[in-house]
Order: sequence, then structure tokens, then C-alpha cells
Amino acid sequence: MNTNDHASGEFSEDQAKDPAGWRFDNSYARLPEVMYSRLSPVPVRSPRMAVFNAGLAEYLGLNADLLAGEEGVAIFSGNRLPSGAEPLAQAYAGHQFGYFTMLGDGRAILLGEQITPRGERFDIQFKGSGQTPFSRRGDGRAALGPMLREYIISEAMHALGIPTTRSLAVVTTGEPVYRESELAGAILTRVASSHIRVGTFEYQASQGDPELIRILAGYTLQRHFPELEDAENPPLALLRAVMERQAALVAKWMLVGFVHGVMNTDNMALSGETIDYGPCAFMDAYDPATVFSSIDQQGRYAYGNQPRIAGWNLTRFAETLVPVLDAHQEQAVTMANDLLESFSGLFRDQWLMGMRAKLGLFTDEDEDLDLIQDLLTLLHQQRLDYTNSLRDLAAEHPEQLPSFKGEAFTKWLPRWQSRLDRQSQPRQAVRESMLAHNPAVIPRNHRVEEALEAAVTRNDMGVMQRLLDVLARPFEDPEDQNYRLPPPASAPAYKTFCGT
Ligand code: AMP
Ligand code: MG
Repeated sequence: MNTNDHASGEFSEDQAKDPAGWRFDNSYARLPEVMYSRLSPVPVRSPRMAVFNAGLAEYLGLNADLLAGEEGVAIFSGNRLPSGAEPLAQAYAGHQFGYFTMLGDGRAILLGEQITPRGERFDIQFKGSGQTPFSRRGDGRAALGPMLREYIISEAMHALGIPTTRSLAVVTTGEPVYRESELAGAILTRVASSHIRVGTFEYQASQGDPELIRILAGYTLQRHFPELEDAENPPLALLRAVMERQAALVAKWMLVGFVHGVMNTDNMALSGETIDYGPCAFMDAYDPATVFSSIDQQGRYAYGNQPRIAGWNLTRFAETLVPVLDAHQEQAVTMANDLLESFSGLFRDQWLMGMRAKLGLFTDEDEDLDLIQDLLTLLHQQRLDYTNSLRDLAAEHPEQLPSFKGEAFTKWLPRWQSRLDRQSQPRQAVRESMLAHNPAVIPRNHRVEEALEAAVTRNDMGVMQRLLDVLARPFEDPEDQNYRLPPPASAPAYKTFCGT
């Protein structure tokens, strides 16, 4: 992950000695005050730890033993502030389903930036910690189910090697939240390279002062792309770098069948990490039109639309930069457009590279795209499971697998096999590489639901813990092969809801 700068040596003795290991350096809190609002989390009645990520805590330089107990409950509920925290809610805007809105952290609070022992910098943020000036009509709270869901899926994404925000802890608050029904309240502690979103720039742009954009662009470069700070045109370099990260990120989503579900510009992080696990879900049978979110009725954020939507969001980002790209606005627009045009190619290159790896191709041939597309068409037509089909191709005799029967497959298979013959790698190396690029387990929707059901209605965290253990090693065949199974054909179509 990406961090900069002068982390060490700036800390007082007190902070260095903090028993829990907190070591904050809050650079965001030093930005102009229009960009956020300072306030503390609202205390909660009777917090309890639901799940704590000891491995991540240690990575962050925190004392996992101490924070697994009462100290952690007090901290991660917002009832006690860690030393060095400077809590604030960030201002941002965003295009939601295409329409511009003023938003901001309505139920989130940034505690500060933890500096890890390696000198990396991570935002520590609460989600569900009470109302803020940006809450609009919301209660500022979150329910246990959706927070555990974010914990499971974000940690699964991390294990799959996909850049993502992570989850440090979920506590229950002991207070109800009211949605369609009364639910248990909870707070998630989210860890991110930063929470700078496309929508953060849109908010500053809406203030009508180009200086704010210049400051935020400089800050983003310093925080995520320090090597570009001395570029000839830093804002243009920022746009290019953000596009590259998004191309790589969305390609990775596509390669594992991840459907984000709510790719609004406020849910696109400039760090290139996946953020906002509301209605996301993994595709089972291959179908580009796959949509899980109950509110996405037009399929705007369907699986197959994600690259195009990323490009749309980046265009909104570029628009915010126009005032600082060039003194001549027409020239600035031309520069931005020229760059934006390259996005679909950037994405395609990343995706093709990833698909080649999934098919065990070590070299590049012009016909690879056709070979891949024809396989996907075949999966689509035969409603085959995306994840398992690709993993199964790594078998010694894929032609013997029952899911690969039929004329289309018997035509495709020899094309792929002769393609493998045109490279020097032996089949054993091909199969090993394929197993390292095609996960055996993804967070299957019915398994996630089962874990949440046990946790939320029966207070049984065991199902979730076992699922988390399997998801932590997604490229290993699980002992219990049932974790690989798609939902039974009789299961109703899976629907997700925004976790508000
Ligand atoms: P999201 O759908 O999670 O991306 O959130 C969109 C916006 O709604 C953000 O500004 C959130 O802070 C805000 N929001 C979502 N849920 C709540 C809530 N329960 N209370 C206040 N604001 C909320
Ligand atoms: Mg959001």
C-alpha cells in the first residue's frame, strides 16, 4: 500500500509509549477547515466486541492483546478516544446513480491516521458512530448485519489480493437501530489508505475556489503518489495515476466476479482501494448483466458495466481538476479528454493480463482475446459457475468434468490446449499457475448470509469465524468442499440492500 513521508521522529514521548500502540499523525486535520467538521463519536450504552482482527491490529502496530479486551470495546465503540485522535467527519459530494448530491460522513468519523511500524499511514475510521453535520435525515448509526457483512467481504477481498479498505473490529452498541424492523446497532472500525474519494474533489469543486482543488490535489499526490509531486503538471499526473489504479482495481473485480453494486463517485477512492461494501456480491453463473442490488433497477452497476462506469466516474474526477490543469480552460479540457480516452485501453490491458494468467497463458498472442471471449460466451450460454469453471480448467483432464460437456466446449478445449502447446511452460507449471490465479473459494452469497444469520439472530459467531478462516486462504482447496459450491439451483435470486 501507498504511504509517504516523514512518519517517524515526529512523535512525542507520550505517543510513543501509548500502551495500545496508537501512533497518530493527522494530516487531514491540518487541511482547510471547509473540508471537514470536527466532532467526537456519540457514546453508546453497552458495547460488546463482536469480532476483532488481531492480525490487522498487529500489522498496524497496535497491541492486539490489550485491544481484544475491555480497552478495545471502549475504543472501538467510540466511548473512549485513543490518545492522539482528532476525530472529524469529512465533507464530500458525489454522483449517486448519475445525479449530483452533497453528502459527507453522515455516519462515519475519522479518528486519525495511524502510522505503522513500517511507516505506512492508515485512516482509522468508525462507521455507525452517530450523527454528524452531514447526517441529513439519517440516524448516523449502522446495524450489525451489514457491518459484519463488510467485515467478511473486505477481508475476503484482501485475501484475494484485491486492494481494499479493511476491517479492524465490529462492536455491538447495545442500542437498537430502526430500519424496516428493529435491529442491533453496531460500529465497524474501517482501515483505509485514505478516504479521499472522487466525491471529495467534487465537494471542493462545488465551493468554487480553485485553490481548494489545488490543495487537495497536492495532498492526494503527497499521500498516494509522492513520486509524482515533482511532475511537470502535477494535477495531470494525478489524473493519470488515479486512472491507472482504477483500471487495475476494476480489472481485479472483474477477474473474480465481484459486483460492487453502488459505484457512485463518492464510493470511488483515489487510493485505488475498493470502498463501501453495501450491496456488493459475487457472481455465481457467468452473466455480464448480473445485478444484486435491489435499488439498481436499470442495471447501471451491473457486473459487465463496471469498467464503463469507472470511466464515467473518472470523467467526473477530471472535471474537478480542469481549473488547475491549465491556465487556459479549453486547453485543460482537451488535455483531460485526451487522457480519459485512454481509460478503456488501460482497463483492457489489465483485464487481459489477468485473464491470461487465469488460463495459464505465459505469453501474449493476438488471438488470446477471442479465445477468452469465446470461453466466457460458453460459460454464459451454459449458465456455468464463473469461479468454479475457471478453477476446474486447471484439472489434469478438464474434458472429463461433467460441467464441460457439450459441443461448444469440445470445440473450445483443443484451441486452448494447442495455445498452451505454443508456449514453453510444461503443463504442470501451467496448472500450478492457474491454481494460484483462480480462487477455490469466494464469499458465496448463501454462505455469507448463513454466517450473518447465525451471528445476528442466534449470537453464534462460530459460523462466521469458520467462513473467515476459509476465505483467508482463497487459493487453497478447503477441507470442506461445500464452501466452493454455488447456491442450490432452487435458491431464489439473491438480492442485496444498502446497509443504511
Ligand atoms: P453510502 O450509501 O453508504 O455510500 O452512503 C451515502 C451517504 O449516506 C453518505 O453520505 C453516508 O454518510 C450517508 N448515510 C448512510 N447511512 C446513514 C445513516 N444511517 N445516517 C446518516 N447518514 C447516512
Ligand atoms: Mg459510501
